[in-house]
Amino acid sequence: MTLTTALNGPLPTPGPAAAYAVHVDAVTKTYTSASGRVEALRGITHGFAPGSFTAIMGPSGSGKSTFLQCAAGLDRPTSGRVVVGGHDITAMKPAALTRLRRAQMGFVFQSYNLLGALTAHDNVALPIRLAGRRPPRARVLAALAEVGLTDQARRRPAELSGGQQQRVAIARALVTRPAVVFADEPTGALDRATSRAVLDLVRRVTDEHHQTVVMVTHDPMAASYAHQVLFLADGLVVGHLRQGSAAQIAQAMNDLEA
Ligand code: ADP
Repeated sequence: MTLTTALNGPLPTPGPAAAYAVHVDAVTKTYTSASGRVEALRGITHGFAPGSFTAIMGPSGSGKSTFLQCAAGLDRPTSGRVVVGGHDITAMKPAALTRLRRAQMGFVFQSYNLLGALTAHDNVALPIRLAGRRPPRARVLAALAEVGLTDQARRRPAELSGGQQQRVAIARALVTRPAVVFADEPTGALDRATSRAVLDLVRRVTDEHHQTVVMVTHDPMAASYAHQVLFLADGLVVGHLRQGSAAQIAQAMNDLEA
């Protein structure tokens, strides 16, 4: 185990941007509102290697959500560049960005965001439909099997538990085999045991299918499932921890908040 405390600074990001599933380069984000300017991100450079599972942690207001939004192309940085799967998404027009997002990115949210009128099968098939293709049944069933829900394919979200709904959302995020899955507090609404099962699943698919996952969480237990944790404070990456235990991650968070 490599243990680097939060005081040891950001991870080095060697090599060209295209070598990473996601590469953010000198990204800043400044919000301007009636109450003034907020520098939410103050120059973040980091490469997420293909097949890596990274948790983003930091005190409230440190810029985690803003970072995820900018890295996923849901919001535009004020300056800097974001490259996903070799494409500079900061230079893209909205329509091209939407197409790229559908092809190269998957999303998992705390609130599952499934469509209530559709079965689990049809929810998983949705990203393929949205991309204008006919979803191959075998592919959708394989994605459901991957998350252990073969028997629930015909059920609607209201007929599934929270953990099952989140597993449908994970299958939906993975069905297009995206370059990267962005997850925002994916276990925030789940109990401890269900959270562990969902995180086990995320870690397994990352390791077995070489998927890249970037997950914002405030929970050290959830973050301990990642290969590494990046710590943000005041809009900057201030440290990282590789393969840290929940206790070590909690300690690093305490140090940051002290
Ligand atoms: P975190 O996810 O770590 O809690 P955020 O990315 O939500 O942090 O917020 C970072 C900073 O940017 C905070 O100071 C927050 O108040 C500010 N902020 C976030 N979104 C907006 C917005 N839409 N308008 C103005 N300020 C914002």
